Parts: sequence; structure tokens; C-alpha cells
Amino acid sequence: MANFGHVYLIGAGPGDPGLLTIRGKEILENADVVVYDRLVSPAILGMCNSKAKMVDVGKMPTHHKVKQSEINKLLVQFAQEYPQGVIARLKGGDPFVFGRGGEEALELVAAGVEFDVVPGITSAISVPAYAGIPVSHRGIATSFHIITGHEKAESNGELSLDFENLAKCQGTLIFLMGIANMDFIAKRLMECGKDPKTPLAFIEKGTTPYQRTVMATLETAGETIVRENVTAPAITIMGGVVELGKTLAWKKNLPLSGKRLVVTRAAKQASGISARLTALGAEVIETPMIETRVLDKPLVMCHPERSETESKDPDQHCFADFNSLANFDILAFTSTNGVESFFTQLLASGNDIRVLAGKKIASVGKITEKKLLEYGIRCDYVPEDHTGEGLGKLLAALNPIPQSTEGATSHLTPRILLLQGNLADDTMLKLLPQAVRWVVYETLPVAELPEWKREAVESADAIVFASTSAVENFCSVILSGVRSTESKDLNRDSSTTPNGFAQNDNNACYPRKSFCIGRMTESAARKHGFETVTSDETTMDSLVKKIVEFYSRK
Ligand code: SAH
Repeated sequence: MANFGHVYLIGAGPGDPGLLTIRGKEILENADVVVYDRLVSPAILGMCNSKAKMVDVGKMPTHHKVKQSEINKLLVQFAQEYPQGVIARLKGGDPFVFGRGGEEALELVAAGVEFDVVPGITSAISVPAYAGIPVSHRGIATSFHIITGHEKAESNGELSLDFENLAKCQGTLIFLMGIANMDFIAKRLMECGKDPKTPLAFIEKGTTPYQRTVMATLETAGETIVRENVTAPAITIMGGVVELGKTLAWKKNLPLSGKRLVVTRAAKQASGISARLTALGAEVIETPMIETRVLDKPLVMCHPERSETESKDPDQHCFADFNSLANFDILAFTSTNGVESFFTQLLASGNDIRVLAGKKIASVGKITEKKLLEYGIRCDYVPEDHTGEGLGKLLAALNPIPQSTEGATSHLTPRILLLQGNLADDTMLKLLPQAVRWVVYETLPVAELPEWKREAVESADAIVFASTSAVENFCSVILSGVRSTESKDLNRDSSTTPNGFAQNDNNACYPRKSFCIGRMTESAARKHGFETVTSDETTMDSLVKKIVEFYSRK
């Protein structure tokens, strides 16, 4: 059998990221390729392995939807390109409910590619549920029927539905993809005898922060769509159960419902704000502004007085030699990134953990300690206060190690190796002047946002800045797409598009409105051409309050 990757046809659910299955999430976290549709929410795309190749088949660079036959071929092609790989085909709702998952599966079988189906929560049932409409209800509806409102008969372009039978049906009728044809569908159902007073609801963008329910009856369906401007994606549900929605609509309209806010994740202070804004109803697009990269080999850094930039230059600073590990008694780790990077490099050098035999291991805190356990290593030293300073003091206070050479015993201070990132400060080196530091990973500004995230940012209502550095980082990432810590002046590069969005030379559009924490952040944002709404105090509480106040005024 050919050595192909494995394809997973995964249902992403109707929109609310919490409705993705646990199995779906696990696969996405490990995917090498994710082939996704238009309706999949940015929050779910954000759960995918950050190294995965992301392929949007809802739209290609030419702005055309990729044809189904091409998607089928693409899946086979990725399975061939990634032997042993995980290829996730991520589809809205459930893959087998009007999702054309069956066609993709048939193509995979024909090509000899193995696949799993990971069912998703279909919008057909969950979207009504989020509007408080049960699809079946004792005494009202004993069946429900899910129908496509889009299927055209090959010959005459007319809908190929069996209206006679549908009109007779006593159960709940649920139409997917039916908005464009609903006027026609409703008329045909009435012609075939369905009661014009049958209650009906359109539920637009169900389960997302933009959910809207519009009630009508069969006879007012067409005019209601026009009057209320009901747009896709929307579900049409007909039958007595719709009335229950008037009593059971449980999803509250929250202060930030319908708002898409970008939160930059560089600043430590930003943690937690996303959760708070989400709880208030907003759709939050988190954009990390920094990323870490494992160096090919550790760099030796033993002079605290040298600047960090110097130490990154391989011409001036030597790569570490794993043979020299023999010269150390204690290895000290100050982050999980440090642990992962070190072991990646150790294995790449042809060594394995046996070279650590007999050494003492120190960790800055419990999370790093736990990471070391994953590599089969227990820590000997962990400070109480879980800081670099705490670890430095703990190691500095160790008793000298007795050494016996040729019968005589002498005492040597333990030789310590610090395994850190390029941005680690010199606290530990100052407390441990004899220590040597290896830089095992580096932290860089994010080079470029992935396409889907850039689009999500472009369509946001506002950016939330929780620090001045968040403003600078955001501008450098959005504007340049190159690795640079220098910010560019948006005022110089930007012009304003008719929709009130700023646009730069790279044609990147981003919202001009910003919410800033305090005056310093405000002035940084203004400098870059943002409109600002600023919190009264420099606290998260005050910032969140200001955002809510702003949108309640509207
Ligand atoms: N496989 C999907 C359906 C794909 S067909 C599923 O199981 O849900 C696409 C149609 O699904 C849309 O035209 C719309 O009718 C419906 N739909 C999908 N997501 C929706 C949402 N969040 N709100 C309302 N309708 C939705």
C-alpha cells in the first residue's frame, strides 16, 4: 500500500468555537495541512498547529471558490505530498450534512488514501437550539427534516425539491442554503397546501457573536428577508416549534455582541483580557506579536556586559559544543521553551540524555519542572519563589562540591550552565558569576500574520492595545511583514480607505479605531494614525469598562 498521509474529514461545528469536538481539536493541533472552508471561525483556525500549511478553499487568491472536484484532488495530492502526515479537511457544521464530505471520501477511497470522519455539530440543529427553538417537541413536532434550498435540477435550473410531499409533512422543516430561494420555496409550499400562517424563523450567523433571529410566517417569508436584509449563512426553520423560540430564546444580547476586537498578545498584561471581552459577547481575534525559534545549535554567551544583538552574531560568538557538557555540574532551565530547544539540539547533535548522567538539574518553577519530567528528568533544585532571581540565589548558596584528585580532597564551586533564550536578562549571571549561559532559542517579532488571521484583523471593529509595545509590535507586523523590531510610521505610510479603514503600501487594511490602556498607549496609537478611546485608569478593569461604555452609547 502506498505511503500516504492520513486525511481527517472534520466537522468544525456551526461557528461557536466551543462546539468543535475534542477529537477534532486534537487532530487540528497535530495537523500538517489544514484545508478549510469559508464558514470556519478564526478562533478554530487559531487552534490549528501553528506550523500547519493552511489552505483556504473557500476563496483562492483570485477570489474564486475552489471547485469541489479540485478540492477532492487537492486532498489526494496532500496525502501524497505528506506521507505519514496529518491532513485535516475542516468543514463547517458536520462534514456529511450538505458538506459534500461524501464526495471527498469517495475520491480518497479511489486513490487508496485512508481517512477518518470526525462528525461535527450540524448547524441544522444547533443553530435553532441557540435561538431557543427545539427541532422536535412533544405534541408539536414528531419529526424534523433537513432540506437544501439550493439544489437545482440539472435540466431547467429549477429547485428539484418535492414540494408536494414537503407541504404534507407535519414535522419541522429546516432549510439550509435557502435564503436566496426562500420566496420561491415559500410560494411553492403554499401552492401545495401548506398553511400560510405556519410560523417560520430565519436564524442568521447562528451560535456566533453576530447571531440574529428574525420571525415571520410562510406568507411573509419573502418580504421579511428583504425588509430585514437577512443574509447568508442563515437557516430557515418552519413549524409550530418556532413559537417556542419566543419563550425559550436563551442567548443573551451581551454588551459587546456582534463586535470583532483584535487583542495583541505580546504584553503580559494582555492575558485575561480576551476571556473578559469574549464573556461580554465580543468575538476576539488574538494576534500574537512574538514567536520563538529554536536555534540550530546553542550559542555560548558568557559575558553579561555584551549586548544581546552581538551574541546573536555567529561570527563573533561560538556555537556550543555538546562535548563541553562534561564541564558542568548543574544545568539550569528557566523556561519550557529552553527545555524543548535544548533537547531538540541535543538530539540533533547526535547525543541523547545519557550525556546528562550524574548532573544536577535546576528549574525556575513548576511548569518548567513538569516539562523536564516529560523528558524523563527529575529536578534537583526548584526555588520557592519561581523567579530567575530565586533560582540564582538558591544555586549561589549551594555548598562547594568535594572533589578528590590524587588522594587529596579539594572543594570546587559547582559549575553551572544556564539554558535560556536570547531575551533572558542577566539576573542569574550576576548572581552566579562562574556560570556559563547558552542561548538555545530566540524570541522574534512575528514575521507575518497568516492569511486567515490577517483577514480577520482587517474585518475587525477595533484593536485593543494594552501597552505601548503592543502598538509598536502591531504596526510592525501589519505593515512590514518582515522581521523587524523597528516600528514604521503609519502616518507616513497610510491613507484612509472609504470604509474608514487605514491602508498601507502593502494594501493591508486594518481598523483605525483603537481602545488604549492609559495615556502613554494612547499617544503611541495616535502617532501611528489610530483613532483612540482611552481608559481613565491604566488598568484592565478600566479598559474593559471603557470598551463596554463606548459600544453601549451607540
Ligand atoms: N455541513 C454544514 C452545512 C453546510 S451548507 C452543517 O452541517 O451545518 C451551508 C449552510 O449551512 C448555510 O447556507 C446555512 O444555511 C447553514 N449554516 C451553516 N452555519 C450556519 C450558521 N452559523 N448560522 C446559520 N446557518 C448556518
